Amino acid sequence: MGAPGENLKVNADRLWDSLMEMAKIGPGVAGGNNRQTVTDEDGEGRALFQSWCEAVGCTMGLDQMGNMFAEYPGTDPDALPVYVGSHLDTQPTGGKYDGVLGVLGGLEVLRTMKDLGIKTKHPIVVTNWTNEEGTRYAPAMLSSGVFAGIHTQDWAYDREDAEGLKFGDELKRIGWRGDEEVGARKMHAMFELHIEQGPILEAEGKKIGVVTHGQGLSWTQVTIEGKDAHTGSTPMKMRKNAGLGMARVLEKVDDIAWSHAPDAVGAAGHIDVYPNSRNVIPGKVVFTVDFRSPELDVIEDMEARLRVEGQKIADQMGLTISFEKVGGFDPVKFDETCVSAVRSAAERLGYSHRNLISGAGHDACWINQVAPTAMVMCPCVDGLSHNEAEDISREWAAAGADVLMHAVLETAEIVE
Ligand SMILES: [Zn+2]
Repeated sequence: MGAPGENLKVNADRLWDSLMEMAKIGPGVAGGNNRQTVTDEDGEGRALFQSWCEAVGCTMGLDQMGNMFAEYPGTDPDALPVYVGSHLDTQPTGGKYDGVLGVLGGLEVLRTMKDLGIKTKHPIVVTNWTNEEGTRYAPAMLSSGVFAGIHTQDWAYDREDAEGLKFGDELKRIGWRGDEEVGARKMHAMFELHIEQGPILEAEGKKIGVVTHGQGLSWTQVTIEGKDAHTGSTPMKMRKNAGLGMARVLEKVDDIAWSHAPDAVGAAGHIDVYPNSRNVIPGKVVFTVDFRSPELDVIEDMEARLRVEGQKIADQMGLTISFEKVGGFDPVKFDETCVSAVRSAAERLGYSHRNLISGAGHDACWINQVAPTAMVMCPCVDGLSHNEAEDISREWAAAGADVLMHAVLETAEIVE
């Protein structure tokens, strides 16, 4: 038992070839992919993945949400499996690597183990989580969410796409609704490899992101009311300009986020101005402040200060202001043992690395609620993702899979 040797690496070319092979299914219009969840293309991708897993000697489990579990046996039949995985579905104009790298990187771990005759005490299960992207069926991470008990299965089945087709019906139609009870599996640990989807690793020339936290999110919808009036004939001192009030509040939002630098962020991406006419001073604005941080108390502080500062501004300007929390989720702190397995894997392999906070949601964020979990990230060009131009290098993909393999093998305990 122990850690794998420092020279143990995956087969970089085979991993890359499999990524390119999968990308042929559901091609996009600009070199990426359109393999949305529970479409015929999704079914085709699943079948290819299953055939690859079976060729390695895995048995495939399928649960009632269509989550796929390819199990590679361990030497101890009583040991709980170590899970690895991500998702094969893509955005409508998605890239070839978002999600796919985590699934096929897991498969490459098994292929390398088979090549070299590596055995572990714990079985290893490579998972494809259904509907991570949440574009065709909101919300994102739907099926890992049901697995972790965040959503009920009935609620998930009833989600409708733009054409009114239900998720549960479409999953059945493509032939990937299994019998296994969702969430019944117990996990020793779970690891997800994913592209960063942000610019930090590439900018700093680091190969590996050791993901310690998932960013928490808070949405507060703010409504400011003043008085609609003519932009030409209303004297400045008689105006109740809700648009100006918003501008001042947004300055504060920026200050508040900066006060918790570098991990906290804040902005308003949704803004409605009424009546939105060139010659009318806005009498009303509605906008949503998006605050994110890996620390719950920071999120709570930012929310509270928004309300205090916003109220002050409104009072000074003779405006009315109201706040409504319209969404959010708590930050994720990944399991310390799993995170250090990732970090020591990167160190053993001699790969440059840094801690990262995931700005996006991932299946691992939900699974972390039911099992010890961690994530490995590799760089992507210009931080671009959810775009057909999403790109990574063969070397980055291989380094990510190497670290994944080392962390998984150490956790699953190599048997000499
Ligand atoms: Zn993803």
